[in-house]
Amino acid sequence: LAGRGYDVQVGHGLLANAGELTEGFIRKDRVAAVADRNSHRAHGQQLEHALAAKGVSIDWFITQPGEGAKSWGVLEKLLDWLLERGVERGDHIFALGGGVVGDLTGFAAAVLKRGCGFVQIPTTLLAQVDSSVGGKTAINTAAGKNLVGAFHQPALVLADTGTLDTLPPREMGAGYAEVIKYGILGDRTFFEWCKENGAKVTARDPAALEYAVTQSVQAKARIVAEDERETTGTRALLNLGHTFGHALEAETGFSDALLHGEAVALGMVLAARYSARREYISLDNAARITAAIDKAGLRSEIASLGLECSGDQLAAHMLHDKKMDAGTLPFILLRGIGQAFVDKQVDMADIAAFLGEQL
Ligand code: NAD
Ligand code: ZN
Repeated sequence: LAGRGYDVQVGHGLLANAGELTEGFIRKDRVAAVADRNSHRAHGQQLEHALAAKGVSIDWFITQPGEGAKSWGVLEKLLDWLLERGVERGDHIFALGGGVVGDLTGFAAAVLKRGCGFVQIPTTLLAQVDSSVGGKTAINTAAGKNLVGAFHQPALVLADTGTLDTLPPREMGAGYAEVIKYGILGDRTFFEWCKENGAKVTARDPAALEYAVTQSVQAKARIVAEDERETTGTRALLNLGHTFGHALEAETGFSDALLHGEAVALGMVLAARYSARREYISLDNAARITAAIDKAGLRSEIASLGLECSGDQLAAHMLHDKKMDAGTLPFILLRGIGQAFVDKQVDMADIAAFLGEQL
């Protein structure tokens, strides 16, 4: 698979061949690699063995798991550590982990000596199908998530679906929301495939998983190639379910009560139902989307969250969304399954009334 000028490799067991696969990106007998405690414990040795076969050893920078690693403090420590090690522009830093490790490492690579190389080895389903491809990197600040970052493409992405065997089941479900998203937003055939095979993907059936990751990466690469810096609006379609989802994440305090992907799954149901309310799609199609999400084991009814807030309060969270642009909030709605579009003329009072009915 080709990303924008870089290779994305997907396969079960790829990590065993990481020595050969990364050969062109290693110039010295040591590489700097970033992981969090979980990804390091689960797959660090595999990567070490693979590179040792080529005479390369790894210096690890290991972070605490969780969003906290995408911070100024950790970034500063990482940059100082990389500089101490003499990492140069022509070198590649390895990121072994989920989206947190990938975003942190990618941003460090973007600013280290005004930009050095990096290789993504995503170890969560979400990172394999979403965050490792597309070149967005960022850290979080007091003002919110992902507000400081850069566009910086990796030199190579190695997505070994075998690394997902150690991932907690809830993280599989959360990542799967971003998989079925590609079908709902732009590919009806893939949506139908997901409807039939979603449970196999979350149960880590190797063939289903490999197919799902490959299709997702291709979909994302296609969209990003059309609109790399999110200027024409095409890339915005990837935010399907995210504005509604963001309100749910904000209401639950961005806590483990609701993972990002779980919020996106609910957000896609809301986007579909709101599209039906506006008569862009049939109620029947909205119900099909809801059923497909439910069938994969994801929560599909926001009422089941038992939130004690009003539709107005949920709608108010949306106005703090970073996608706000010159006072309007673009919504990604559906004209059909596989036909998402950007609607910039949404009436927030109507959204609040709609949300009130769904709670
Ligand atoms: P994550 O990196 O926090 O990983 C989720 C959990 O799984 C963590 O506890 C981690 O330690 C653990 N883990 C990782 N790999 C494992 C493995 N193989 N076995 C066992 N445990 C493992 O979260 P995520 O969902 O991968 O990524 C979320 C982040 O990605 C957010 O910060 C989000 O902003 C970012 N993101 C970025 C983009 C982008 O385009 N750059 C897109 C989507 C999301
Ligand atoms: Zn997302």
